Amino acid sequence: MTYLLLSMEEAYFAGYNDREFDTYGTETTPINQIFGGYIRTEVTCLECGTVSTTFQQCQDFSLDIKHVSTLDDALEDYFSPERLDEGGDYSCRRCNKKVVATKKFSLEKDPQVLCIQLKRYVVLLLDIIHFCIIHSLKDRLEGIKE
Ligand SMILES: [Zn+2]
Repeated sequence: MTYLLLSMEEAYFAGYNDREFDTYGTETTPINQIFGGYIRTEVTCLECGTVSTTFQQCQDFSLDIKHVSTLDDALEDYFSPERLDEGGDYSCRRCNKKVVATKKFSLEKDPQVLCIQLKRYVVLLLDIIHFCIIHSLKDRLEGIKE
């Protein structure tokens, strides 16, 4: 599905020959208007409480299903806070050093069509299954979204 979306975007941009697009232009293509959404990432410093918020455009979710048995559990796991331990890569701007923090994703803007990539690993074999779920999943995400 990812390759299909990339090919559709390439075909769209090919219609504009060598014209350059800024971030807004690339994020508002007809393909992104259908499949694009925005993820909010909040990283909270556990020493001073400073929250760093960023937004990222996305066209699919890559869900780990190694330890879950339902799609709901995989989505809940994806949107659960993750602890970034001391000695990791996160540096707090206020503390001006590497700190322990939590990182949490939430859905800022839902895509009209949500594509989910399920990742399951068996020994050294990577098996990726794509599902494209149209709007019916939106109600489930509403419960997870803050
Ligand atoms: Zn801090």
